[in-house]
Amino acid sequence: MPDAPVWDIEVDLVAVGSGAGGLTAAIAAHDGGQETLILEKSAQLGGVTAYSGGQTWCGANHLQEEAGIVDSPEAARAYLHYISGGEYLQENLDAFLANSRGVIEYLMTEAGVRFKAMRGFADYYFPDAPGSGGDGRMLEVEPFSGPSLGDWQHVTRISPHMPSGITFEEMFAWGGYGGMAGWDIDLYTQRIQDDMRTMGPGLAAYLVKAACVDRGIRTLTSTAATELITHGGAVVGVRASNGDGELAIHARKGIVLATSGYDGSPELAAKYERASEWNTAAFPGLTGDGLVMGAEIGGAVVSVPQDHGFPGIPAAPGETHDGAPLFRLPHLYMGLPHGIIVNSEGRRFADESFYPTLLAALQEFDGRNRRLKNFPCYLILDQDYRDNYMLGGVVPGQELPESFGATADTLAELAAELDIDPQGLEETVERFNGFARNGKDLDFKRGDFPWSNRNWGDVRVKPNPNLGTVERAPFYGVRMTIVGVGVNNTGLLTDANGGVRHVRGHSIPGLYAVGNTAAFVDCMRGYQSGYPNARGMVFGCLAARHAAEQPPREA
Ligand SMILES: Cc1cc2nc3c(=O)[nH]c(=O)nc-3n(C[C@H](O)[C@H](O)[C@H](O)COP(=O)(O)OP(=O)(O)OC[C@H]3O[C@@H](n4cnc5c(N)ncnc54)[C@H](O)[C@@H]3O)c2cc1C
Repeated sequence: MPDAPVWDIEVDLVAVGSGAGGLTAAIAAHDGGQETLILEKSAQLGGVTAYSGGQTWCGANHLQEEAGIVDSPEAARAYLHYISGGEYLQENLDAFLANSRGVIEYLMTEAGVRFKAMRGFADYYFPDAPGSGGDGRMLEVEPFSGPSLGDWQHVTRISPHMPSGITFEEMFAWGGYGGMAGWDIDLYTQRIQDDMRTMGPGLAAYLVKAACVDRGIRTLTSTAATELITHGGAVVGVRASNGDGELAIHARKGIVLATSGYDGSPELAAKYERASEWNTAAFPGLTGDGLVMGAEIGGAVVSVPQDHGFPGIPAAPGETHDGAPLFRLPHLYMGLPHGIIVNSEGRRFADESFYPTLLAALQEFDGRNRRLKNFPCYLILDQDYRDNYMLGGVVPGQELPESFGATADTLAELAAELDIDPQGLEETVERFNGFARNGKDLDFKRGDFPWSNRNWGDVRVKPNPNLGTVERAPFYGVRMTIVGVGVNNTGLLTDANGGVRHVRGHSIPGLYAVGNTAAFVDCMRGYQSGYPNARGMVFGCLAARHAAEQPPREA
């Protein structure tokens, strides 16, 4: 047996990664009396959580109850059962359902995270799905004052994707993403000047404040965990590396891997994601480190049958983050009026305003012609779209970057430039325009869900916020690429406490994986905004509490 390393740092619990999962684990460990350390690879705290909308999904939560909104644990279970396609590991889903309400209450009362229920905000599949809720399951945070982070203010990430400063409730009241012209720009500007943070940046900031400011948990930024240290089949420590050299860290009770997914690793994306190309809206440091470290010592790696590669637009020239091209969040431009997505036959293939259908359709394989039926695909827009809406970072009036695709006076010319079947495109647009005028998409039900209308539509547009004709020249065509959002289909298999399972079936003592590092076995085929953030916090908390109950391990 090799000699025990000389430890540079000794603590009870190490949280690896400072997104929602890692920070919640650190907070809960500290509150359980554990000496805790946070390791963060990048120079900034907050992870993709700080890039995100910060939406947090919790069925039958106490805020609903206080507001008199009727919900029940049974309904929440029925909904997750439905969206997962009935595929999940029972103990993992049970653990989420049994603990989500309590963890939200804990974060609010003990850690000062000011969640509020987003009123009138429906579940994705409301009202179709059994158990779906029309109100109050989705939480967001109240505005957070950046200066209250003190020394951590400028070390905590904000988002290039989200209009942090305003809440979702405010934004929707002003017309939503599609109705920017109606926003209270004075208030928004004032909030930015005051560094008031909302959405994902707000959520991350509340958690950083609770962990680093209020609790003073030791936190090392620009310090990457590189390898787990084991002794007698248990994880007892972790090696880490930073500008000063290598560190050997003893974790007497446990290590919580919360390093997110592998969007920034072309090798892992090629291996695990069913996509011929892969880009990401997340910053580039997510290279699957938790997955690799866990697998290296026997952690089971599991893929779930759901992909999160979105059809997205290319990165605009010159737009970068952490030195890498900035791919914009795909959802924001797909369901707006005056645009459609087609395959190379010029045919629409899904409801553009409801991305779960797009993700599923992207995987459709043409068995006869041996190719993906719907990829490559193209976003087709007309001048009405360009006059009214942003396209990623490209604002109305700004010329479309050449690398995006083509511009033409007729649909046939546009099709020829993009190598799309011209007849198919003309027929598709004519049919779609009929649907747009009547407000009813008979092919793919675009704009049928309240969630789509509110989130990705333009509420000023009647009769359907997601439908507008594509008829005003010139026309624009963007060859879409695949863009991930930090959520992957493959991760470490975990138990009901977030403990990592060994390939032989047992849980590995001392090792936990939460957030996007943990495979989505709790809801395999399903996705609901707010669920990734919620499960990160729930299992982060459970992992820390479980670790605290273990006897200290010496090495
Ligand atoms: C634009 C956008 C919007 C989104 N909106 C939502 C939303 O509203 N609701 C929702 O639920 N989900 C949303 N998501 C999904 C989001 O990715 C997750 O919900 C959330 O980030 C998961 O948190 P996490 O704790 O798993 O990881 P993260 O928040 O990504 O944190 C991981 C951290 O680990 C660090 N790290 C990586 N490797 C190492 C290492 N070796 N050592 C130390 N640290 C390391 C990373 O630098 C990072 O800071 C969105 C994603 C994007 C891109």
